[in-house]
Amino acid sequence: MRLTGSCHCGSVDYSLDWPEQAKCIPARECSCTFCSRFGGTWTSHPDASLVINYPHDLKPGKYRFGTATADFLFCGRCGIIVAALDENSGRPKAVVNIRTLHGDTPLPFEHSVSHFDGESTDDRLGRRSRNWIGHVQIVGGAPQR
Ligand SMILES: [Zn+2]
Repeated sequence: MRLTGSCHCGSVDYSLDWPEQAKCIPARECSCTFCSRFGGTWTSHPDASLVINYPHDLKPGKYRFGTATADFLFCGRCGIIVAALDENSGRPKAVVNIRTLHGDTPLPFEHSVSHFDGESTDDRLGRRSRNWIGHVQIVGGAPQR
């Protein structure tokens, strides 16, 4: 099934193809120092496919901190964070901010709270390889420089 979402102003939108066999949409509220400031709550499925579309005149906004192994992708106009992206292995992986999904989802959310403080970088990258969206494409966007 196809889920869609966007930032607040609509400049950045995405489509998320979710596996048909899935029974729910995980909604993992992250307790880290960054996500707790905006209620960051994330979803992913390793067999899902995500396409994020940026307008051609807008640079993809990126922010990283801590282990600096992922970029939070935000809209350069309205500032809403739509996804986080890990490009450390050959294939980019992502999680989506569930608060940016459009409308009612066809599956129920399964809520949980994540605590990743103290996790080693190796463990973190391994967890993302297993759990994050395994097929990610970013389309458009102005060049960074
Ligand atoms: Zn926006």
